[in-house]
Amino acid sequence: MSGKIAECPECAAKVALPADVMEGEIVQCPECGLELEVLSLNPLSLAQAPEEEEDWGE
Ligand SMILES: [Zn+2]
Repeated sequence: MSGKIAECPECAAKVALPADVMEGEIVQCPECGLELEVLSLNPLSLAQAPEEEEDWGE
């Protein structure tokens, strides 16, 4: 078996992760496009990645 499947916390879509995924990695939900950070691998846990603050304001 290769790869892991996690669930998007936003839309509950199945998100495929590479087999060698590491904590702190950012993946994107294929359904809603949300950027997700891998919080932990065991148990597998995803959370919305913090938004970058570039281009903030005008
Ligand atoms: Zn999603």
